[in-house]
Amino acid sequence: MAGRSNMKAECGLCNSTMTKIFEKELVVGKEEYATKLNLKYIECDECGESFYTKESESVINKTVSDIKRKKQGLLLGEEIKAFRKSLGVTQEQLSIMLGMAPKTISRYEGGFAVQSKQTDEHLRLMISNRDRAIEKAIELNFLEDCIEIFPVRKHKNIYKTKTRENHSNCGSLAFCG
Ligand SMILES: [Zn+2]
Repeated sequence: MAGRSNMKAECGLCNSTMTKIFEKELVVGKEEYATKLNLKYIECDECGESFYTKESESVINKTVSDIKRKKQGLLLGEEIKAFRKSLGVTQEQLSIMLGMAPKTISRYEGGFAVQSKQTDEHLRLMISNRDRAIEKAIELNFLEDCIEIFPVRKHKNIYKTKTRENHSNCGSLAFCG
């Protein structure tokens, strides 16, 4: 990725335009939690200062949060995301289903926050009662577009037979795999 020309940023120290991207290895966490990351960073020609790209910062956040989760036996960010996608709800909608502030799930998935043990248990309960979670999403009108096309009962059949047809209107994976 070195020298990718469409990447431009301004140096936070000297305000020069920086265009050179490099990659380096960073180990996050200790002992059994040590995770090796290959991260892109951008370096200033003028002052020599280097900065991680936004993408790298995001990877670091997620990795650090997941290490905290592994230590506490909590669901990982990707596991929360996969469950949410399987329901076909947005980050805000899943936050509301948990009775939490709208940005909560976005913060969990992005690695900006780690869920409490109590919230983790709530999430696991939803995962193990997925049909109930889908019903709740329907009750809250989060899957409204789906219902307009198929009645709820039919939806369940589609879900249970794991039909892989595309649900083009709502993009929900809950019913269409
Ligand atoms: Zn600089």
